[in-house]
Amino acid sequence: MIEPTYDILIAGAGPSGLALSAALADRAPDLRIGLLSPRHPAPWPNTYGAWLDELEAADEADCADYIWHDPNVATGEHRPHRLDREYALIDNDALRASMRERARAGNVEEISAVATGYQRSSEETLVVRGRGERTWEATLVFDATGHRPTLLKTPQGDPGYQRAWGIVADVTGDPIPGDSRMTLMDYRSDYLAGDADREPTFLYAMQLDDQRYFLEETSLVARPPVEFDTLEERLNRRMTARGVTVDRVIETERVSFPMGQPLPTSDQPVVGFGAAAGMVHPATGYMVGPMLGRADRVAGAAADSVRRLSSVDRRATRVWTSVWPSELRRTRHLLSFGLETLLGLEADVLRDFFEAFFQLDRTDWGVYMSGEGSPAATARIMATVFRHASIGLRGELLRRALSREAYHLVRALIPNRQ
Ligand SMILES: Cc1cc2nc3c(=O)[nH]c(=O)nc-3n(C[C@H](O)[C@H](O)[C@H](O)COP(=O)(O)OP(=O)(O)OC[C@H]3O[C@@H](n4cnc5c(N)ncnc54)[C@H](O)[C@@H]3O)c2cc1C
Repeated sequence: MIEPTYDILIAGAGPSGLALSAALADRAPDLRIGLLSPRHPAPWPNTYGAWLDELEAADEADCADYIWHDPNVATGEHRPHRLDREYALIDNDALRASMRERARAGNVEEISAVATGYQRSSEETLVVRGRGERTWEATLVFDATGHRPTLLKTPQGDPGYQRAWGIVADVTGDPIPGDSRMTLMDYRSDYLAGDADREPTFLYAMQLDDQRYFLEETSLVARPPVEFDTLEERLNRRMTARGVTVDRVIETERVSFPMGQPLPTSDQPVVGFGAAAGMVHPATGYMVGPMLGRADRVAGAAADSVRRLSSVDRRATRVWTSVWPSELRRTRHLLSFGLETLLGLEADVLRDFFEAFFQLDRTDWGVYMSGEGSPAATARIMATVFRHASIGLRGELLRRALSREAYHLVRALIPNRQ
């Protein structure tokens, strides 16, 4: 059975699929869009944080559940460094509801189904298959099914993994360094007496209420990933060392996702978006804030390609270059070099790195963390970190720049061979 034809079909209604469908509805209310998800509303089980200005730029600042005006970063030797930028915890239900409302105001149809594959039906359309022998025909298909995409092929890589063990809990005592109410990274590891050198981890923490905190012990990136037991034990040891008693655990969260996977190849008739398209920042693990901006750009290109181009392949190629313009692919190689540099750094060297990183001007570290800077700006920012670095860290960075990690640097320097 061939169900009605869609102009655009999106598989996956996580933050990325839904943001894209909302942006398409805003830009092209006349186009018929299908949004596939095992169920609607799709559950969004993860706790998402983003910079408030990113939500504001996407006109979604009302979906911030909490806002902190003075987040900080603590590396140990110096006083915690205040970040002059507001950070927000996203209210998932509110953001999802806002995007669904925008999608419904256009011509987006929510389809409860699981995509399983696709085939070409003609030069102009693809047929997506779903469980229960269902099929949908569309002129442009997006895969937004997350880190392990269903429809897109991604080259085998050897990714690092970000992992975290988190709790929302009522506590007695103050787990956050300095006088801020939120810490992006507390890399102090005095409480570990030496163990930290093998597997550096940090505390990501937010005060939600008088005594209620979100506390997450995080391994920024490791290959192989840090065990959850280690993260949980570290969180407990850290709290004990800071004189904090956890009185009641309300929720727990396990975070685990690959970082720096190779991008899907551009010769596929299906276009990736979100984690499926490698949009998670390869060196920080953030995506949601910058993705909201990219959704609008990609929606514009998608609407245009559906209107103007007749073949599936030409549409997909055109839209893929809006997801990953050549400049951004080069930036991603630089950031992947950043990731490879961080992998395996000993704890004290990593602390030095973040000490140098947050000496940067706020705009510069913001550009680096967004992953959206030009290759030239990103390279300049990395060079500035190098200049601020301690002699030990400079030596380590140079050693890595000259080793196999240099592959990404070379790819970043060659504009036409991505
Ligand atoms: C626990 C956790 C915490 C994170 N915290 C942050 C954070 O604070 N800030 C940040 O910027 N990033 C964060 N990330 C990284 C990244 O932003 C998230 O992984 C984000 O969820 C990616 O969004 P997505 O929509 O691309 O994919 P997903 O959120 O994985 O959504 C994919 C959707 O596709 C659906 N799907 C899957 N297969 C099919 C199929 N075959 N057919 C139809 N639908 C399908 C799934 O049900 C799901 O709803 C976090 C990641 C994790 C795992």
